[in-house]
Amino acid sequence: MDDCIFCKIINGLIPAEKVYDKNNVIGFRDINPSAPVHLLFIHKNHTKDLNDICTNDPRGLMELMTAIGEYSEEKGLKESGYRVVSNIGRPSGQSVFHTHFHVLSGARLGKFGI
Ligand code: 5GP
Ligand code: ZN
Repeated sequence: MDDCIFCKIINGLIPAEKVYDKNNVIGFRDINPSAPVHLLFIHKNHTKDLNDICTNDPRGLMELMTAIGEYSEEKGLKESGYRVVSNIGRPSGQSVFHTHFHVLSGARLGKFGI
């Protein structure tokens, strides 16, 4: 996907502070963090959102979720608690149309808002 910012990160065309790169999944720090730990996990195969990956690349979705579980275990996020969020559609706040999970941690997280 030529015009996809996250595909550009995958291909090394845009720099990112990577924290994870394994089994077709990368994790990197969000450029505009909303919590002390704010990571984004994406699969190297482009899909546009959670519904798209569920339908068209369920194996990729499994790889993505497994990576988040593995990373959080390794880095002790399980102990501090963490939240996994995926916005679907512009009204929900989705601004990048390459499936991604936000992983938020490092503070007491507030309730969801409108
Ligand atoms: P969304 O708004 O689609 O749920 O999440 C997209 C996230 O990507 C936002 O939190 C935004 O800060 C982050 N983001 C957008 N462009 C870049 C970038 O070039 N590099 C990094 N590291 N994060 C980005
Ligand atoms: Zn993409």
